[in-house]
Amino acid sequence: MTPLILVTAGSSQPRSEAPPAPDRPSISGAQMPTVTMVGGGQLARMTHQAAVALGQRLRVLAENPADPAAQVSPDVVLGSHTDLDALRRAAKGAHALTFDHEHVPTEHLETLVAEGVNVAPPPQALVYAQDKFAMRRKLAGLGIPVPAFVTVSAPSDVTDFGDEHGWPVVIKAIRGGYDGRGVWMPEDAETASHIVTEQLGKGVSLLVEAKVALRRELSAMVARSPFGQGATWPVVETVQRDGQCAVVIAPAPDLDVELATEAEGLALRLAAELGVVGAMAVELFEVDPAAAVPGNGFSGRILVNELAMRPHNSGHWGMDGARTGQFEQHLRAVLDYPLGDTSPLAPVTVMANILGAPEAPAMTMDERLHHLFARMPDAKVHLYGKGERKARKIGHVNVLGDSYGSIDDPKYVAAVRRRAELAAHWMSHGEWADGWDPHETEAGK
Ligand code: ADP
Repeated sequence: MTPLILVTAGSSQPRSEAPPAPDRPSISGAQMPTVTMVGGGQLARMTHQAAVALGQRLRVLAENPADPAAQVSPDVVLGSHTDLDALRRAAKGAHALTFDHEHVPTEHLETLVAEGVNVAPPPQALVYAQDKFAMRRKLAGLGIPVPAFVTVSAPSDVTDFGDEHGWPVVIKAIRGGYDGRGVWMPEDAETASHIVTEQLGKGVSLLVEAKVALRRELSAMVARSPFGQGATWPVVETVQRDGQCAVVIAPAPDLDVELATEAEGLALRLAAELGVVGAMAVELFEVDPAAAVPGNGFSGRILVNELAMRPHNSGHWGMDGARTGQFEQHLRAVLDYPLGDTSPLAPVTVMANILGAPEAPAMTMDERLHHLFARMPDAKVHLYGKGERKARKIGHVNVLGDSYGSIDDPKYVAAVRRRAELAAHWMSHGEWADGWDPHETEAGK
């Protein structure tokens, strides 16, 4: 499907000049921008990689010098994202301040904006990626399909909701959850009451929502610039294991054009309505067709689960599989450059996360990489410089399908997926899940 790029709003404004930063060295004296990213994780590390190519400097606010991005950026401010002074130090002289996670307190961001910092996305947009209740309420108000939901102030709110909408229900922490942490799916009122009492007791705000009859999960990624330009990537399928993204297939196979267009249009509209600046992932549930309830101009076949206003795991495939990947696009967007062409470079690209094994293999990561490249010279590996721990995201592998294949050919898609998953499993476990032994066969594929 052709990527959609359109200008939705905006006027031609002169580019804003960042305040001078006399205490920071410029890049070889050139007047190239500095972008600050809050958080030193893998998303900042890969954004740094894109910044290098564009001649920019990515300054990171990291808690620890060993964080993935702090290892590689020459411009690290050490401190916490909850400390306003650390945020101020990191923002000083930067052309834009952006995020690798959504945990910065909204009031700090509002203070920074009042002090003249170009916060991208702005706090009034970011709040919809921070607060699941604010997001559900806003989207429902815009007529965008979301699961039925209410806030929870007592166990009876959940039991009433379950009795009305059916069990199991989904209880969620309104703020701070990620990778399935902060999501509970109790089967009955008793279990639900126990969870609610325990979480409310810890001061966690909760909502409860209907459990959706899922066909699968999708993600529609877009980027939007302050000028109002928006660009989408093809809608992808995300495969979760234990509440965590394990595999992404780009584009989503077996997705009809109408639904893909609906999802892309919805993501672009949301980006414009919420005033997003930068990349945004709209995590979607594809509903079992039998359970779809059309309305408001939507087919009812997709519901919005969650928003992320930053580069996102569901966009990693584009580092190798699209003309412009999400990290470069995010930088272009926050600096109000024209956005890049998002066309895919292969009929399918599969991204598989390298998720730490229960026990790190005896073979070193370096040796595993040697062996992987010997078997699969085309596998594109991205390692985050993180220690190995069970189920921890320590890297990912992208595999592009050959150009003669088609996304409509399930065998072709399955073969590419199999190779990506084999590669990722090898990297984390040091074992070939298909039993392949380099000493027994010469055929590496
Ligand atoms: P997190 O913020 O931790 O990623 P999510 O809200 O995305 O939490 O939920 C994690 C996973 O739980 C989702 O990817 C999905 O598989 C499942 N899930 C969440 N909400 C629902 C729902 N309403 N119905 C069915 N499954 C759900």
